[in-house]
Amino acid sequence: MPIYEYLCDDCGERYERIVMNGNTKITCPKCASAKHTLQLSVFAAPANGSKASGGSSPASSGGGCCGGACGCKN
Ligand SMILES: [Zn+2]
Repeated sequence: MPIYEYLCDDCGERYERIVMNGNTKITCPKCASAKHTLQLSVFAAPANGSKASGGSSPASSGGGCCGGACGCKN
């Protein structure tokens, strides 16, 4: 089961949740807000170098390292 890290949009609290499936409801443990930003989990980072023989262009189309999920893009 993947563990995702969330950043609350309302109070800025960082918390982790185990996501069973797409129906899992995520709320902030501090202010109970459902508004959050999904942070890039360290467990999900492709660190195995499986695409080392490829070119220099990333496979995903735009959005930086994570497709914009972690807010790394400008
Ligand atoms: Zn909050």
